[in-house]
Amino acid sequence: MARVLDPTMRDALRERVRFYRDLGLTEFYRRPVDPALMADEGAADAQTAALFADLQQEKSHPEVQTDLHQEQPIPVRKTFPAPPEIAAAVPSSDRAGALQLIREEIGDCTRCALHTGRNKLVFGDGDAAARLMFVGEGPGADEDAQGIPFVGRAGQLLNNMIVAMGLKREEVYIANVVKCRPPGNRTPEPEEAHTCSPFLFRQIDVVRPEVLVALGATAATYLLGQRQPLAGLRGRVHSVRGTRLIVTYHPAYLLRDPRQKKEAWADLQIAMRELGLKPPKRV
Ligand code: SF4
Repeated sequence: MARVLDPTMRDALRERVRFYRDLGLTEFYRRPVDPALMADEGAADAQTAALFADLQQEKSHPEVQTDLHQEQPIPVRKTFPAPPEIAAAVPSSDRAGALQLIREEIGDCTRCALHTGRNKLVFGDGDAAARLMFVGEGPGADEDAQGIPFVGRAGQLLNNMIVAMGLKREEVYIANVVKCRPPGNRTPEPEEAHTCSPFLFRQIDVVRPEVLVALGATAATYLLGQRQPLAGLRGRVHSVRGTRLIVTYHPAYLLRDPRQKKEAWADLQIAMRELGLKPPKRV
């Protein structure tokens, strides 16, 4: 008799794969199964396949393997296109204008497929001459509606993180790897990220922050030009476009797993040390 995958187990599996994705673990394989054992498991396998198909709809990562009936070859590591040359420094008084020029150049962008589902393009927000810049993955529903990055629940948490560092949101600059919302909040496809990220690099060149903070694995991947588990990138200072880069969790992940807030705070303290900041005294 066909076995049905328990819905609780299915949901738990889905959460577990998301959890791995947030950690930057994105390549999944299934051991070959004895065909004799498969006879009664058609329905269960169909459900499992549907679950992974769902996850791919959210597109956790292009390398997630969805065909569970075959051993998949190890995917070829894709090379990243070279980032644009670092642009000449812009005087701090001209940085807002320089950012505006980049925004005008982006225009009503149709350069990648994400434009089809967007309401508002989310360019960036904050001080054009900020010492600290945060980079996220892409807009969510609230950001897409308002045209401003990090304004939903994750944005509220980011604001709290900024305040805990002794800063105000207006004192930092915030942008994303892609400027249009991926459908269903899925991770941007590499092609979308590679198409949009040169604008992010130019924003970084204009703002010239002393410290960049990558929020989550996607931001870290496209800033560093290499795919690596988040765990291997946290806890140290990287260099990107002549700027120091710290990698931490995305606030949306911290909302799902608040136990990791302590770890994120440790990352932010590295950023504070690099900036010579001390946390504000509690009153
Ligand atoms: Fe253009 Fe970037 Fe939006 Fe794609 S995500 S349509 S490249 S602005």
